[in-house]
Amino acid sequence: MEIKINKSILSLVEGDITKQDTEAIVNAANKSLRGGGGVDGAIHRAGGPKILEECIKIGECETGEAVITTGGNLKARYVIHTVGPVYRDGLHNEPKLLENAYKNSLGLASSKGIKSIAFPSISTGAYGYPLKEAAEIALKTSINYLRERDDIELVRFVLFGQNAHEVYEKKVRELV
Ligand code: ADP
Repeated sequence: MEIKINKSILSLVEGDITKQDTEAIVNAANKSLRGGGGVDGAIHRAGGPKILEECIKIGECETGEAVITTGGNLKARYVIHTVGPVYRDGLHNEPKLLENAYKNSLGLASSKGIKSIAFPSISTGAYGYPLKEAAEIALKTSINYLRERDDIELVRFVLFGQNAHEVYEKKVRELV
């Protein structure tokens, strides 16, 4: 589904983020930036060794922060690596840190002049964030961004599997 927010598009698709043709894709990385499982592993496998080389030069990334590298062999020119929170009980600043991961990724994209960006559902795999709560934060943060600014023309959520796609679609209908 696609919705228009001011001049920009918010889109939700079911699929694989490594296949996206947006200018940037976002990686749900870990602090070490050394690759890992889940979407992180998939991005490094598909994008090739240049991405890891640049990650090693950058060093580390704090939770809620974002850094940028080449997209290597991906269709996307850039990968924005952000670190979502590990979910404990929701009482350890997880909502704010997840919001920061989205905000800082969008801010970094904007500062690089990037017009289209694809996000996975950050923190909802190995990091254990409950999907509905994470979807609400992801979507609210993106919608607010697009309501305030029009420099990014397309924000696409690429949901892995039917369930995640359905949860995000339901949530977006509640929010707009
Ligand atoms: P985290 O450590 O932030 O929880 P994971 O990679 O474990 O990161 O999971 C984040 C989300 O990414 C999960 O919802 C998972 O289903 C999804 N995911 C895994 N592989 C892909 C992929 N190739 N494209 C898009 N999403 C993916």
